[in-house]
Amino acid sequence: MQWETVIGLEIHAQLATRSKIFSGASTAFGAEPNTQACAIDLGLPGVLPVLNREAVVMAVRFSAAIGADLERRSVFARKNYFYPDLPKGYQISQFELPIVGRGSVDILLDDGEMRSVGVTRAHLEEDAGKSLHEDFHGLTGIDLNRAGTPLLEIVSEPDMRSAKEAVAYARKIHQIVRYIGICDGNMQEGSFRVDANVSIRPLGGELGTRAELKNINSFRFLERAINFEVERQIDVLESGGKVVQETRLYDPDRDETRSMRSKEEANDYRYFPDPDLLPVELDDAFIDAALTGMPELPDARRARFCEAYALSQSDAAQLTASRELADYYEAAVQEAGDARLAATWIMGELAGALNRGGLDIGQSPISAVLLGGLLRRIADNTISGKIAKQVFETMWSEGGAADAIIQNRGLRQITDAGAIAGIVDAVVQANPSQVEAYRQADEKKQAKMLGFFVGQVMQASKGKANPTQVNELLRRKLNA
Ligand code: ADP
Ligand code: MG
Repeated sequence: MQWETVIGLEIHAQLATRSKIFSGASTAFGAEPNTQACAIDLGLPGVLPVLNREAVVMAVRFSAAIGADLERRSVFARKNYFYPDLPKGYQISQFELPIVGRGSVDILLDDGEMRSVGVTRAHLEEDAGKSLHEDFHGLTGIDLNRAGTPLLEIVSEPDMRSAKEAVAYARKIHQIVRYIGICDGNMQEGSFRVDANVSIRPLGGELGTRAELKNINSFRFLERAINFEVERQIDVLESGGKVVQETRLYDPDRDETRSMRSKEEANDYRYFPDPDLLPVELDDAFIDAALTGMPELPDARRARFCEAYALSQSDAAQLTASRELADYYEAAVQEAGDARLAATWIMGELAGALNRGGLDIGQSPISAVLLGGLLRRIADNTISGKIAKQVFETMWSEGGAADAIIQNRGLRQITDAGAIAGIVDAVVQANPSQVEAYRQADEKKQAKMLGFFVGQVMQASKGKANPTQVNELLRRKLNA
């Protein structure tokens, strides 16, 4: 039997507001437990929630970013359930009338194909608290700091057909929310959480029964959790069993999913409109204000990078992965005057160094302007690419501008033909047997043997001779 995988994702993006969605308590991460939950977050008697305007602004921005139908009128509803980390006994969410309606995003697949993934809806809601199991013997600790933190829950259509596509879609949403500045995207801290709904079916058949996978805190685990789950469901069906609709927990240590609870239906939650909150009604002035200062979005920026800097799709995609990186690239190009060179260095040398240091682009010890200054000296032949790597190392570990380092260490490239010819002559004279062998060889062999002489000349010049000129002069000399 040929099975087809069907995946839909529910993504909770924690909105980067300073205060909670219905109270003035702080949303800062990492505070002492239970110091940032106020009476409203706990739902104590006599309190009333007041909607945080900024959370609405962020939802409007997201709606525009995915070309969704923004709903002018949306309604908060109570989702009722009991859990120790939910002292109110209900979560304020949106149900029938969410603020963001149908939209879509494009994902770039490995083979370079584009594919559109539908977004069913996105709604505003409050987060619950957190149960802590680790530091407690036989007990559970409850930290309510997170209670009332604003979330945007983004629900996709079941449009994805592989773990890879699901990862591409999740990354795309991650990229968008960070570009538009509504979520910091930190998956370790839980600011961006992905639940995966997974089912299988005979190719092209009716939708199968799904399992919802939780506790996924990286893109790598998302891919692994889905792949494990698909295999599990195939085993169940092929051995004559049935997939049950349930919530399953991904365990990264064992790389498997385990049943957590059977899946509730929407009507289990007894949703009803929250009587404490007015419907959200958006007018043009509010929407216009929310959308001022929207940045260029990832797709547009990638397309512009292809055009303006003559980059391939995949290089442009890499350089626009985050807004910070794209800004860095453009600032470096401006300084270097060579877009191709800047792309090569940022994706190569710089990315490698950042990676080794566990740094992201915002923490680079070499600013875009300083890197551009180094690249300008390659472009105008002051130094070779090889020497530039030395200069880069120095800039990385000691700081400073390329020009000063080149000056102080006498690294300027030798482009004076007379000076290079002198070194070439010396090398040719010092290696008579190699010269003889070269002159006997056929053209193909000669091309290989030239490397030896180039190496000698470069060594004698401490790497400073212009390599193009060295090659040219050597060839002329040896063939004379
Ligand atoms: P709930 O809110 O109860 O989890 P929804 O109907 O809102 O249920 O669906 C949640 C997610 O599950 C959506 O992203 C949707 O695309 C996905 N989904 C629904 N049915 C399936 C299915 N058969 N296989 C895979 N994903 C599915
Ligand atoms: Mg769900």
